[in-house]
Amino acid sequence: MSYDYDKVEVPTDGEQITLEDGTDDTLEVPDNPIIPIIYGDGIGQDVAPAAQQVLEAAAQATGHDINWMRLYAGEAAREKYDENLPDDTVEALKEFRCSIKGPLTTPVGSGFRSLNVALRKKLDLYANVRPTYHLDGVPSPVSEPGQMDMVTFRENTEDVYAGIEWEAGTDEVEQVKAFVEDEMGYDNTIHDGPVGIGVKPITEFGTKRVVRKAIDYALENDRDSVTLVHKGNIMKFTEAAFRDWGYEVAEEEYGDEVITEDTLWEENDGDAPEDAVVVNDRIADNMLQQLLTRTDQYDVIATMNLNGDYLSDAAGAQIGGLGIAPGANYGDGRFLAEPVHGSAPKYAGQDKVNPTAMILSGRILLERLGWDDAATLVRDAVEQTISAGKVTYDLERQIEGGEKLATSEFADEIVANVEQLS
Ligand code: NAP
Repeated sequence: MSYDYDKVEVPTDGEQITLEDGTDDTLEVPDNPIIPIIYGDGIGQDVAPAAQQVLEAAAQATGHDINWMRLYAGEAAREKYDENLPDDTVEALKEFRCSIKGPLTTPVGSGFRSLNVALRKKLDLYANVRPTYHLDGVPSPVSEPGQMDMVTFRENTEDVYAGIEWEAGTDEVEQVKAFVEDEMGYDNTIHDGPVGIGVKPITEFGTKRVVRKAIDYALENDRDSVTLVHKGNIMKFTEAAFRDWGYEVAEEEYGDEVITEDTLWEENDGDAPEDAVVVNDRIADNMLQQLLTRTDQYDVIATMNLNGDYLSDAAGAQIGGLGIAPGANYGDGRFLAEPVHGSAPKYAGQDKVNPTAMILSGRILLERLGWDDAATLVRDAVEQTISAGKVTYDLERQIEGGEKLATSEFADEIVANVEQLS
């Protein structure tokens, strides 16, 4: 196959991942796929090569081969091509379908807008997915971190994060205020004086596609429940609508495969039929409590953008924090794995930080390719390394008797464990 890129070098070995005919999300994955990788800014240069090394080892140990294709964004793209996000990078991410990236810096207050948000929008990656599970040996602030084994599907394209907002003191915000008060009849609702106003769109389309992804995931991965998290008691036409449309998807599209919590109690005395996924809902503030008090009752979560942001970080703290927390973004037929943490510029290039979050994001990539053996191997090898007390600085300061390793030494240990376990 020939490719028409100026700013991307396609490897000569390896094949492209494609879609199965007639589907928009079923991947055909060769044994030697070409996988795009963006190292990212700051500590991306440390954690991305570490992840490559571990993922390659796990792929090879299970009969596969990864052919990496470097793509450029952020500082590396500015240096090489004098732009933040070359079109070729975006096109290659679309064409090659499944990729992984490190963190990209976003300047605060001024400068360019978030490249991460731009990528999610351009690729229509509408579900941000964060698996949250505990690895033996990782220090945690809670007494039983092993009870946490949850996957959060956070809607990625709407809510108050859609960017529809007006700054205090502008003509635009005064026009919006006048419209709300005079034409929509909400007189005396907004205090006098400077005001900023934002809009919170929650659509049936956006809701249904993310809830569908969460239910599909639960069914494919033998999960027991999907919980819709919302603040619908207060925001009836946005957050409650999310809950209602979520239940609609469950009831109208999945037949016996899914049962709602109400039906479960009304018709089944609370006993879920074997293989069925239970769909329930929880109010967001209660859910944040239950994460701590009834951790093991939650499985797959589907929620809106803002709730999902809070919830997944709170859950991440329970299993060891930023150096550990992996993530991925899903669209139809497209996938981009990325760690939750940022570019931590003060540690850039020091071969110091923890690459676990990037490695475990790669584990989600392996799962998306259908390489479950390789994915399990990565998890087990990381766990074995950390349990042996061989860790980077962030965990070493919390573990008595731990051995502090550089990023690259830690990756070498994991690779050795991959080889030993396979
Ligand atoms: P950050 O880069 O995540 O770093 C905050 C702190 O978290 C670090 O100082 C360090 O804490 C700890 N940390 C993060 N990653 C770690 C790792 N791999 N190993 C060990 N410790 C780690 O957050 P930030 O300083 O708020 O953000 C920096 C830049 O990243 C910003 O421009 C932000 O916009 C961007 N960002 C990008 C993404 C993304 O690309 N998806 C996500 C978030 C933020 P200690 O110093 O206490 O050890």
